[in-house]
Amino acid sequence: SDIITVREGKGSFLVYSPQKYKDPAWAPVFYNPRMKCSRDISSSIIQAYARLLGKESLVVVDALSATGIRGIRYLLENTAVSKVILNDLNPRAVEIIRENVEINNVSDSVEIRNEDAVRLLASLRGIDIVDIDPFGSPAEFIDPAIRSLKHKGMLCVTATDLPPLLGKFPKTCLRKYFAKSILTEFSRELAVRIMIYFVAREAAKLRRTAVPVFSFYHSHHIRTCFIVLRRETHYSGLIDSIGFVWYNPSSLDRKAVKLLDFRLAGNEWLIGGPLWISNLASQKMVETVLEIYREREQNMDLCKNGEKIVSLMLSENEMPPFYFTTEKLAGTYSLKEMTTEETIEKLVNAGFRASPTHFEPKGFKTDANINDIVAILRTA
Ligand code: SAM
Repeated sequence: SDIITVREGKGSFLVYSPQKYKDPAWAPVFYNPRMKCSRDISSSIIQAYARLLGKESLVVVDALSATGIRGIRYLLENTAVSKVILNDLNPRAVEIIRENVEINNVSDSVEIRNEDAVRLLASLRGIDIVDIDPFGSPAEFIDPAIRSLKHKGMLCVTATDLPPLLGKFPKTCLRKYFAKSILTEFSRELAVRIMIYFVAREAAKLRRTAVPVFSFYHSHHIRTCFIVLRRETHYSGLIDSIGFVWYNPSSLDRKAVKLLDFRLAGNEWLIGGPLWISNLASQKMVETVLEIYREREQNMDLCKNGEKIVSLMLSENEMPPFYFTTEKLAGTYSLKEMTTEETIEKLVNAGFRASPTHFEPKGFKTDANINDIVAILRTA
């Protein structure tokens, strides 16, 4: 038949054979084996959240479950999770979820729902963690997800509608996220920052504060987790974190400019935003996720890439925003292209901070400005 069993993390799951349906979205119920890495990391984030906030008996909503694989894994792999609500609008998905719950022996800790995720979330209160993993844009689900959370609950959001967020369809991006995306060599980072801005704004309008604690890009999707406080920010965190990117495509110079400090730019500059211009993650959270990921790696067959992504996030998190790429620098300034490692070494030897980035193998972040970078690469 079309249905096969796969093992992932600590569970076994019935799924529609990915061999048979070239695009997972064409299968009667969605299952994408390439998202395993994202699920591996996400399950570790749940554990990190519980450990850092000293929480147990967590209630998690997997609002768009498809086969239920994500929510069931969260339950099996994290003792701090005591209950999971698995939901999907598609009745065929709900049948498969039911079978997967049986196979993994978790019926006592699972509630299955067959509703529109917006309606479901709007009816829930006091939830610890909400996971939003839709086809395409998560925009419509953010408001009810935030409302359903308790104070210091966590919201994790995936977006797969990357062409608008990456600047290929700026009008679509403006419509969905109220921000203008632009094409740059660091557009993957801009995509994450636009999504964070959108969620921060959805929270602020509800008098809550969404603090991004873990963000990454991986194979055609971006994902960010937020801790949501049930109160307004009285610190300047939000106001100082919303801004624009100024990008000059002929020199590759770029700046993060606070929305409040905004002035008209010279005509060479492209302006993108509003978007998030502060840290993409909490250092403590990323450290904890890395620690947990390493603990699990031996006995859980987690994706190798996962550790690399998380270590890179750790190294780049406290760098100024917007990575450069060796390729674009070489092309724009007629330089010999160096490897990322060589470039970073040169910058560090010249007294700057520099780090590789998980966003892009040829990318690096640094506190050197464009003139310093070009001068350093020239003399190489
Ligand atoms: N979380 C799953 C995983 O890790 O394998 C994948 C989820 S899949 C990308 C998105 C799912 O959302 C589909 O199963 C689809 O039926 C469901 N869906 C789409 N719109 C929905 C809505 N408004 N409410 C509830 N479910 C919805």
